[in-house]
Amino acid sequence: MSYKPFNIVVILLFFIGVLLVFFKLISIWLLVIVVLAYLFFLLLISTNVQWNFFVKAYNNNHTVTNGEIALTFDDGPVENTLEILALLKKYNAKASFFCIGKQIKENPEIFQKILQEGHLVGNHTFSHTRKMGFLRTQQVIEEINRCNKIAFEVGGINLKTFRPPFGIINPKVERALISTGHQVIGWNLRSYDGILNSKNFILKRIIKNIKPGDVILLHDNNLQTVEILEQLLLFLQNNNYRSVRVDNLFQLHAYS
Ligand SMILES: [Zn+2]
Repeated sequence: MSYKPFNIVVILLFFIGVLLVFFKLISIWLLVIVVLAYLFFLLLISTNVQWNFFVKAYNNNHTVTNGEIALTFDDGPVENTLEILALLKKYNAKASFFCIGKQIKENPEIFQKILQEGHLVGNHTFSHTRKMGFLRTQQVIEEINRCNKIAFEVGGINLKTFRPPFGIINPKVERALISTGHQVIGWNLRSYDGILNSKNFILKRIIKNIKPGDVILLHDNNLQTVEILEQLLLFLQNNNYRSVRVDNLFQLHAYS
């Protein structure tokens, strides 16, 4: 969606609102409520990558009929990643790892092992800053490029897929992605493994909701994710699901 005409319409509506308040045709509280509701709307559309408001993200592929799903792990590579790799190997599953650049720098051998074992790696920015929603376009481009650079130095690959930290996509991230040309990989099944402290809830949530074509969001820097993974992989095996890389699920090119 083009943001500029949208912005102009919003500013025009705001001035009409101010005029209506000025001529006492509406209460100032009505204007305040509308402005707050709009800010809340902005927050929702910027933090829900699945809504595809600013960019078209690959969130699921419900056209698949063969039980394929995609397990995705964010925020590594870390020590836990090694255990995850061992379990994926044991159950003959492939996954996608959206890596943070500074973690690749810290754990280059683990990054290389992810690649050697045939999993996909994607860009998750260099620093995964909590200020992601407030960065300027150029700063977002730098975050993406620095992550790609270290991935190339360590793994000899040029990442083409991107997962936004915290799922944040706003007009600045949108412009940055147009510049870098990365494809956005979202998700449609969130485990809440990074927020909730309950292995049981996380596992049950996935098992209860899973459907062929789903993209499941997990975090490899979370110990409880490692602890539930074997049960999850067993469930997938016993229920004719197969975890594949996101480039296979969506027929994309992971690298250029
Ligand atoms: Zn993240």
